Amino acid sequence: MISVIGAGPAGSHAAYLLAKEGYKVNLYEDHSIVGIPIQCTGITTGALLDVINLDKSLIMNEITTYRIISPDNNELYFKLRKRDIVFDRSKFDQHISEEAVNAGAKLHLKSKFNGLENNGKLKIKINNEVNETEYLIGADGPSSLVAKSAGIYGKRRFIVG
Ligand SMILES: Cc1cc2nc3c(=O)[nH]c(=O)nc-3n(C[C@H](O)[C@H](O)[C@H](O)COP(=O)(O)OP(=O)(O)OC[C@H]3O[C@@H](n4cnc5c(N)ncnc54)[C@H](O)[C@@H]3O)c2cc1C
Repeated sequence: MISVIGAGPAGSHAAYLLAKEGYKVNLYEDHSIVGIPIQCTGITTGALLDVINLDKSLIMNEITTYRIISPDNNELYFKLRKRDIVFDRSKFDQHISEEAVNAGAKLHLKSKFNGLENNGKLKIKINNEVNETEYLIGADGPSSLVAKSAGIYGKRRFIVG
């Protein structure tokens, strides 16, 4: 049994790849709906399409050129060799989690990882329940409680822009 915490793109895609290989996967997501609320503009490299089976209907726009304007009104144009894409990020997250579920992963919504219990076996606290698992994947974002609980969070520094 593999437990994946977080049904963002990283967690859902990991769950999809593992379930496709026949592993038993539980995918736990804190929110009641995958992809909502969202904190992302949805711009990404077109190379993503080489990695993920993305339904073209999720693509809202394509970017061929970036135009950067300095405070003194000088302009710089970057023409991209490969187009960037702008996608609907909520639907994108939902699409990847659906792929995971279709491959056999079990999605648990409103299921918050609350920490590890360590008594020789790997046990995870989901809401108020304690579940045993063989493997644990922390895909719970930049403030990962999984990483903190496992003591591998390290000294991270965030630069806000
Ligand atoms: C304002 C903003 C704009 C951005 N714009 C872009 C952009 O245009 N292009 C781009 O490529 N990137 C953008 N990003 C970055 C992008 O959103 C992240 O790189 C990406 O979401 C990381 O994916 P992830 O799956 O690792 O984590 P996340 O998308 O953060 O997913 C983590 C999931 O884990 C869940 N979770 C967290 N804690 C728990 C818990 N304890 N128990 C259960 N579930 C939990 C969360 O609810 C979430 O669903 C932006 C980020 C921000 C903040």
